[in-house]
Amino acid sequence: MKPAYIRVIIDRAIHRELDYLVPDSLAERISVGSRVRVPFRDKSALATVVATLEQSEAEGIRPIEAVVGEAPVISEPLLELAKWMSAYYCCPLETVMRSLLPQVIRRAEIGWKKQLFVQPSHKIDKSEPDWQKEIEKLRKRAPRQAELLEAISQLKTPIPAATLLRKVSLDNQTLRALVKRGLAELREEAVERDPHADEQFVATTNLEMNAEQVIALSKIEEALASPENARPILLHGVTGSGKTEIYLQGIRAALERGRSAIVLVPEISLTPQTVERFKGRFAEAQDAVAVLHSHLSEGERHDEWHKIHSGRAQIVIGARSAVFAPLKNLGLIIVDEEHETTYKQEEAPRYHARDVAVVRAKIEKCAVVLGSATPSLESYHNATTGKYQLATLTQRVDEQQMPLMRIVDLRQERRKQKAAAILSEKLSQAIADRLEKREQTILFLNRRGFSTSLLCSNCGEARNCPNCSVALTFHRHMARLSCHLCGHTAAVPKKCPACGRDALIYAGFGTEKVESTVAQFFPKATVRRMDADSMTRKQAYRDTLLSFRAGKIDILVGTQMIAKGLHFPNVTLVGIINADLALHLPDFRAGERTFQLLTQVAGRAGRGETPGEVFVQTYTPFSPSIQFARHHDFAGYFQQELEFRERCDFPPFKHAILITVRSAHEGRAKLSAETLVRRLKENLGTEFILGDATPAPLEKLQGQFRFHILLRGEAIMRLSRLVRETLDKLPFPEDVTVTVDVDPYQLL
Ligand SMILES: [Zn+2]
Ligand SMILES: [Zn+2]
Repeated sequence: MKPAYIRVIIDRAIHRELDYLVPDSLAERISVGSRVRVPFRDKSALATVVATLEQSEAEGIRPIEAVVGEAPVISEPLLELAKWMSAYYCCPLETVMRSLLPQVIRRAEIGWKKQLFVQPSHKIDKSEPDWQKEIEKLRKRAPRQAELLEAISQLKTPIPAATLLRKVSLDNQTLRALVKRGLAELREEAVERDPHADEQFVATTNLEMNAEQVIALSKIEEALASPENARPILLHGVTGSGKTEIYLQGIRAALERGRSAIVLVPEISLTPQTVERFKGRFAEAQDAVAVLHSHLSEGERHDEWHKIHSGRAQIVIGARSAVFAPLKNLGLIIVDEEHETTYKQEEAPRYHARDVAVVRAKIEKCAVVLGSATPSLESYHNATTGKYQLATLTQRVDEQQMPLMRIVDLRQERRKQKAAAILSEKLSQAIADRLEKREQTILFLNRRGFSTSLLCSNCGEARNCPNCSVALTFHRHMARLSCHLCGHTAAVPKKCPACGRDALIYAGFGTEKVESTVAQFFPKATVRRMDADSMTRKQAYRDTLLSFRAGKIDILVGTQMIAKGLHFPNVTLVGIINADLALHLPDFRAGERTFQLLTQVAGRAGRGETPGEVFVQTYTPFSPSIQFARHHDFAGYFQQELEFRERCDFPPFKHAILITVRSAHEGRAKLSAETLVRRLKENLGTEFILGDATPAPLEKLQGQFRFHILLRGEAIMRLSRLVRETLDKLPFPEDVTVTVDVDPYQLL
């Protein structure tokens, strides 16, 4: 049926849907999910069709201007998902659309890459020219043209002109001259930008699985067989228990049923190593695996998206936003490291990709697997209450031992060394021992830079960021102070700007300081650092990992970047320089994060023949998350953490919504926040818990003063709606910004 009218949402925050008339000439090309250009006020705007209508009650209805792109870009299930997100995350549908469709697709400005191909040309008559004769004729007058013609005449098939010119080291001008003489021909062809074109993937076959893995895989197969009533599967497997093998065979099972699959991994784990494992297993069809990550160019993103949308790729592996990959016939979604907080997007729409994956699976009737060595409290709670199924892997593959965890009490160390220790005696002995045995060490610290602050020992003043309420960090390699929140940098003052005395001292330490201390302690060892500062070049990450794997680095110092899923058989020692950093954050998930981090980092030790050893340096050796992690006791940790959450009305027992009110003007931010609390009090009723407006722990960020309002309750959809209604009716001063974060992870 040809639509007479359509309902659209336009790419602007106007918070409502609009109706338009469809001219007969365009009707054939329009359906739900199409992109169109429409007149809006006195301009034109891009929009997405959300419904086709036979009639419309709207007044002053106008016809659309054009259809953008060839096929509908959004399927109906994805549109349904977008509507759910809009309601759940308390956020306008057009904002959701911005995440759902990559910008390059929404705008439809970048197309296929065109490349010039070159081939020999037949001069004048149709008969095969005598190339040798033509070349000789040119030899004297234009030797370079002769040389190029020689290369061209040998081509069996057309090849990209740029490639040929590079090979023979000749320039474009020479080629143009040959074309002018009618001896060579150029033709434009569309080519796909393949970010992995230069790489070779070695085909791999299924690995043998142990009994626990077989059981886990059979749960996936059951879910694929009857997806209508399948519950999400939580795959809880200790580090090194072979979860990836289950994913790979699960995907194979989905493909055999003619269905497609999405694999979500945290951005940081989307390493060449990970991509290789997936591309390698499905190497029989290189095109079958599409990779989506933030380093793609706009053009590459365009091509990968179309590869998925057209059905040529059946497997998508990617970070957070790959949960929206436009696959048809979706059969399986895998969320690896489901506890990772990077799945939560920290700007609108503030969605959590794991939760969106579970909802998409429900809408598309497909299986969903959430995997982790340290499941989030929310997911594990869902598994113990029966909302999810649980599959457990307790054994490391090849029966490797879990690493031995030793706790080092830094309070005693401080007494011994008379200063805050970076390396305890025990840890440095262990490193020396590894160096002797030619085994490798990883040292982990969750903090970048050299010193965390520059203090005046005379007046006590610290150098703070002028825009944010945090201290500036000293980076030795660039010899400057820098703010990790807003990027502000400053020169290091010679004297204290407050009191004028020459009394500045560096306090606290980051990865850069650890690197230099270790290098001093072990001058013969090769030490490398891996963090956001040292890995600014795209290739640096890969190079460092390759040399580490090849055994050219003895000690690797780093942040989270080294904590994730890396597999190095020769690493037998992991040192956690300071386990307390997360514990002191004003965040109800602090204990959970510490437990997860310790377990994940420890999992890097002993993945080969030799058992691993882990040293955890801490000022709070008896804190529960450290003790439970030490004994690899997930169940014990889960139980005590769950009791704490229930006592305090935190997730998973209650949902939370965090409202942030900010302004460059402190008084206006405060007043607006207090007014909002009063209005919410009137509208919410007693089933919800409403906190007061309080200054955020991070009071000032990027020049803005910030106030928090925390709401909690069980009926999150209702709470979300009431918050939206309250906000819509409340006018805020122009310089006040209000953001709503449903199921927040960032409480600073
Ligand atoms: Zn001073
Ligand atoms: Zn700052």
